[in-house]
Amino acid sequence: MPPENHKKIMVSDFDGTMTRFDFFDIARRHLPSVSDHDYWQDYLDGKISHFEAMAAIFGAIRTDHEGMEKALDRMEFDPTLHDSVTRLEAAGWKIIVASAGCEWYIERLLDKAGLELEVHANPGKFTPENGLKLSLPTDSPYFDLEKGIDKEAIVRKALSQDSQAAFAGDGRPDIPAAKNVSGNRLFARGMLADYLTGKGRTFHYFENWKQIADTLLDQI
Ligand SMILES: [Mg+2]
Repeated sequence: MPPENHKKIMVSDFDGTMTRFDFFDIARRHLPSVSDHDYWQDYLDGKISHFEAMAAIFGAIRTDHEGMEKALDRMEFDPTLHDSVTRLEAAGWKIIVASAGCEWYIERLLDKAGLELEVHANPGKFTPENGLKLSLPTDSPYFDLEKGIDKEAIVRKALSQDSQAAFAGDGRPDIPAAKNVSGNRLFARGMLADYLTGKGRTFHYFENWKQIADTLLDQI
């Protein structure tokens, strides 16, 4: 179905939302690295950008293709995603992935699951010699120097086409995007859920995509 025929749009984060765990966290904990420096802490301390932290962690990975595949398995891709996306698409929903992570593993995992979605993320290329080399998506209409991709801009564009556009996310980088979406179309878990709860905002807590699909399809 061409995009213009879709009336309903769902923008979703990838790491921690379509998977249980974040790739960068799996990389930090389980993959061999040429660096013992904690770039994630540098990001949390405000010393470097989110993109710089990702690029440093991913670029320091030293493993073979098998090692990378094992790391992707450890992310625990949501087994209900394929069926849920299929049901939502059949009901006229378009699902757009918005991620501050890397296209390389996102496309790989979606491919494995037999899913073809519009993905906005940072480009990357993996080789055992140089790790996962991340680059900034400077050609993207949603380019942002801090995270690579501006999720809030993607949500705003979606809302200009569907005033009831939905969003799903789990992390701190999802907060600006989530703030734009109405509570009955907002799905959260993890730190994003904690944040929204603290602010008294309504949202749907989710454990898996089956719950997201059931909720959205129930609203029609
Ligand atoms: Mg996430």
